[in-house]
Amino acid sequence: MTALAQRADVEAVLTRVPTGLWIGGQAREARTGATFAVHDPAIGSVLTRVADAGVDDGLDALSAAAQCQREWAATPPRQRSEILRRAWELVTAQADDFATLMTAEMGKTLAESRGEVAYGAEFLRWFAEEAVRVGGRTTTAPSGNGRILVSKEPVGPCLAVTPWNFPLAMGTRKIGPALAAGCTVIVKPAEDTPLTMLLLASVLRDAGLPDGVLSVIPTMNAPSVVGALMSDARLRKLSFTGSTPVGRALIAQSGENVLRTSMELGGNAPFIVFDDADLDAAVEGAMAAKMRNGGQACTAANRFLVHNAVRDAFTAALTERVASMRVGAGAEADVDLGPIINARQRDRIADLVDRTISAGARIRTGGSVISGPGHFYAPTVIDEVGADAEISSAEIFGPVAAITGFDTEEEAIAAANNTEFGLAAYFYTRDLDRAARVASALEAGMVGVNRGIISDPAAPFGGIKQSGLGSEGGAEGIEEYLNTKYTALTA
Ligand code: NAD
Repeated sequence: MTALAQRADVEAVLTRVPTGLWIGGQAREARTGATFAVHDPAIGSVLTRVADAGVDDGLDALSAAAQCQREWAATPPRQRSEILRRAWELVTAQADDFATLMTAEMGKTLAESRGEVAYGAEFLRWFAEEAVRVGGRTTTAPSGNGRILVSKEPVGPCLAVTPWNFPLAMGTRKIGPALAAGCTVIVKPAEDTPLTMLLLASVLRDAGLPDGVLSVIPTMNAPSVVGALMSDARLRKLSFTGSTPVGRALIAQSGENVLRTSMELGGNAPFIVFDDADLDAAVEGAMAAKMRNGGQACTAANRFLVHNAVRDAFTAALTERVASMRVGAGAEADVDLGPIINARQRDRIADLVDRTISAGARIRTGGSVISGPGHFYAPTVIDEVGADAEISSAEIFGPVAAITGFDTEEEAIAAANNTEFGLAAYFYTRDLDRAARVASALEAGMVGVNRGIISDPAAPFGGIKQSGLGSEGGAEGIEEYLNTKYTALTA
């Protein structure tokens, strides 16, 4: 497709995106009339402008959410389920539009955007199915003196704060279970990528979601708008996906009104290759775990720990694959790697790599910024990285594979666990005993054994240690939006 045809595709989708604040089932201006620009990271140009919510706009959204909370909670689960199911159908039918928009505002390749549309939409279908399966229990009190009735109730109005790396899925992973549970929701999307969430809001309205149940409030003033909502006692829950430092601050802030919180924070995933691994499969898995989304994923492999007996072979094969990646605008055909989200993130990656090289590691391929327009960084492999190097403890969040050698299983496990994070971990081995032993020893909320992709809407996604609190997806995901109530009955 020519650049002109791509531009026409994006323009056509943009005519369908509500660019106001989505409050009360329609788009409207910010009270101050303020707007901010959304950029295409592949060319750096402005795609469009969206309304910029202030504190008062945020509180308007909370008023809408609080007003319809009771009615939404009382809506029959089957009806809530059918709205979510219709939303899944509509997003799926408009998959090309969502993918075009996501590539335009975030930069990932069109193939990856299509993958995210399928993944992100699936949270709507999965939680449509969960909406009608919320249970409780009744037991006889052990004393024989009455019955214990346990029931589940929606927690109430929720605030969902999302990052830019998966503009659809990070929203639907919260909206799906919240709506299924009977909660109203306000979404504060990332500044870089608000358009996908705004389009989703209009699709949910088309699916029959009552006005006010969902609001989307893009803002350039996240701390003040989110802070004001968290200080308002009508808000009952915060679900945050983003970096660990911001998550830590929000957990502290949530103490003010004792808010329920779910936290999906940063990661530092080890990717261990044992000497008995199927090396071809390990390289394939490494490409997926490292290069998907340009490495801009919380589950991205951050540290490759490779047994010294196979390190040269693995590194050579991975380097060959990485060096052959085609870099360009995500909308172009045959591109494997799109741009980094913005210049700040690209420069952060470049500085981290430069410091790693100065500290003695060796570049096998890449290692440099690709000149613009757009914010590109060359896909990179670095070998001979020290286990205590800065790049082994920092979240790289870019297309850079850093390889460290090891000699024993114990050494690999100790290195893998030597981090404050505990989100994802991957390892490759053909030994079944070792697979069971290492999976259990790794301090991570999610472990991939002989595979580089683990995300699945039907599985609980979440971290331990400083990677987060709670799970999204699976049977667990809806629990994050439900309170447990105990009623004592005499009979
Ligand atoms: P970020 O923490 O900078 O921002 C995330 C969101 O929080 C954005 O919407 C931002 O506007 C908002 N925000 C920032 N500062 C805030 C504040 N003081 N108060 C309230 N809101 C604030 O993260 P990011 O750069 O957008 O995303 C990348 C990070 O997200 C990485 O650390 C990545 O690992 C993490 N992430 C985690 C998961 C997961 O499921 N664990 C998934 C995707 C991304």
